[in-house]
Amino acid sequence: MQIFNSPKELQQELSKLDESIGFVPTMGALHDGHKELIRRSKAQNKITVVSIFVNPKQFLESEDLDIYPRTFEQDRALCKDLSVEYILYPKVQDIYRPDEVSLNAPNQRGYILEGATRAGHFSGMLTVVNKLLNIVKPKRAYFGKKDAQQLMLIESMVKDLFMDIEIVAVDTVREHDGLAYSSRNRYLTQDERAIALNIIKSLKLATKLVSSGILDTNTIELQMSQTLAPLLVEYIAFVDREFNHISEIKPGRSIILVEALVAQTRLIDNIMI
Ligand code: AMP
Repeated sequence: MQIFNSPKELQQELSKLDESIGFVPTMGALHDGHKELIRRSKAQNKITVVSIFVNPKQFLESEDLDIYPRTFEQDRALCKDLSVEYILYPKVQDIYRPDEVSLNAPNQRGYILEGATRAGHFSGMLTVVNKLLNIVKPKRAYFGKKDAQQLMLIESMVKDLFMDIEIVAVDTVREHDGLAYSSRNRYLTQDERAIALNIIKSLKLATKLVSSGILDTNTIELQMSQTLAPLLVEYIAFVDREFNHISEIKPGRSIILVEALVAQTRLIDNIMI
């Protein structure tokens, strides 16, 4: 496994290879969710590149950029265990220059839900993903369904910018009790973690209601909010796969999303139903 800090040097190295490249962009503090993305890439490509970069442009002023977990030594060991070929581990100044060209998230789909509570977040995310895809030029890139709105926006970007890359969506990996793996779970105390479980409980309840024929989203939302009462709910949302708001669940074509705060920790989860 080789580790590159310099995007240019990695680009030169990869350009010598005539192999299919799978790419897994991450912000590090790797967990079982990231592992699944890496395993998928290993299974489908000759070469796997993992990037580890805490992207300042996707954090708002008030957010956790300074305390976001940085665990490079553990991440490196995890990548080595999974036989990753290359890690890109750049510094902020390796990726960004002052006064540079950047991307804007779409005015509508980029500014609803997580884009509304975190205005500017998705422009920063798309800007860095675009750069990373240009550096690595993978055949396939792997993203988690846990970040459903992010995934939809990346799929849009690839389509809108005519990028010749296959985006592979990977199911959300969960801990034994259903909590979705997230690097931010490290912030939670044991009590907060127990409260966070209400997120998956509410999504399971919604699934049960839909299975019993209740499709009206107001009715489902009311019941979900009762389960979510111990958390500070930012939104419970019902959308179709293009992220248009819906008032009735269409089984097989809908997504239910939750964003909530447990103490200071912002958690998101969703279920594709
Ligand atoms: P992050 O390091 O949080 O930016 O995430 C890097 C990638 O891992 C993104 O594509 C996420 O959607 C994905 N990811 C994060 N958590 C999970 C999870 N629990 N299951 C599957 N994918 C995940």
